[in-house]
Amino acid sequence: MSNTGKQRLCPVSGSCGGCQMIELPYGEQLKRKQDYLKKLLGKYCSVHPIVGMEQPLHYRNKVHAVFGYRRGEVVSGVYEEGSHRLVSVERCLIEDEKADEIIATIRGLVKSFKIRTYDEDSGYGLLRHVLVRRGFATGEIMVVLVTASPVFPSKNNFIKALRKAHPEITTIVQNINARGTSMVLGEREQVLYGPGYIEDVLCGCRFRLSAGSFYQVNPVQTELLYHKAIELAGLTGKESVLDAYCGIGTIGIIAAAKAGSVVGVELNRAAVRDAIQNARASAVRNIRFFSADATEFMTGAAAEGGTFDVVLMDPPRSGSTPAFIHAVSAVQAKRVVYISCGPDTLARDLKEFRKLGYRAEGAWPYDLFPATGHVEIVCLLSKLHAKRHIEVEICMDEMDLTAADK
Ligand code: SAH
Repeated sequence: MSNTGKQRLCPVSGSCGGCQMIELPYGEQLKRKQDYLKKLLGKYCSVHPIVGMEQPLHYRNKVHAVFGYRRGEVVSGVYEEGSHRLVSVERCLIEDEKADEIIATIRGLVKSFKIRTYDEDSGYGLLRHVLVRRGFATGEIMVVLVTASPVFPSKNNFIKALRKAHPEITTIVQNINARGTSMVLGEREQVLYGPGYIEDVLCGCRFRLSAGSFYQVNPVQTELLYHKAIELAGLTGKESVLDAYCGIGTIGIIAAAKAGSVVGVELNRAAVRDAIQNARASAVRNIRFFSADATEFMTGAAAEGGTFDVVLMDPPRSGSTPAFIHAVSAVQAKRVVYISCGPDTLARDLKEFRKLGYRAEGAWPYDLFPATGHVEIVCLLSKLHAKRHIEVEICMDEMDLTAADK
């Protein structure tokens, strides 16, 4: 019970820090996100009503648990925000329920197999984290056991016991992370069972996901978001399209059917391998992928006089770079569809785009992360013709002044 006498929905909502809004009615959560976005982005464009979920619980298809001890007992959960105190989480209202069941089974097995969990301070112990990913459309399940060393005593019996308890698991991977960093996954991995990846279906296309590849955690809302992004791209079958920060190629592969050609660029090599495989599996032939830093790739393309009609970009929360945005202008992109999970960096980048004559036509928010303070936005920008550009620039500057006066 909280000190107001009201029953809390989640017993650890105070200490876990994952769901800052879980105790608020869903309508109120949406209203707060909408108001925040309007304040932040309203001076660039109109902010359309946020698209919420009908069932805003247990939407996360990826669950991550840190393993450790508390008072001599094996527990799993999350580090309390800003600390290294492990908060035990046995049931989470936003996570996939099947994944939580599997993690509970692993807690039991760790005890019965007498596997030591890793201690960050002393560097002793084996099991650090468990990651469970489920393809909501396919039902395929991946379990990733992150260990501090490659030696996993009684590995085969452990896997056998885990599969017996959960025959629905389709692949198990051991990831080795010996480093003392806060990164969950290390570089090396070993497939212990199954193919080492799972597949999921999004917007009618099938995608392969490896342990370390990025994939949106809320597939129900992601479908709506991607449909909107592709609609905004206004493709007619002829355009040359760049899918920057493309991950496993989702957006570009879905867009390819409506485009002339697509180029995907992504930093993570495992994700690029998945992307190439995904395009092949979907028989998409008008797409090519490059493993590179998006800014370096774009500045290179601009220097060689390359052009793209449409740029789709979906950078991480830290946003893009001024050099990337300048290169978008240099390759003469007419339209930019910017997908963002970081409203602040989106606002910063819209300002940079505006200097180069790109006008934000609208922002469409989607609630991909109910109960948390996060939100996803898709924003359309279009290049203005030279004269219009100057007029809008002056007009926007006036708006800035009025905003600053307040
Ligand atoms: N569009 C994909 C992935 C978006 S997440 C999807 O919807 O699934 C952002 C992606 O940007 C991640 O895959 C991350 O690996 C990649 N990334 C991060 N920094 C990058 C950089 N500097 N250059 C290229 N890709 C980068």
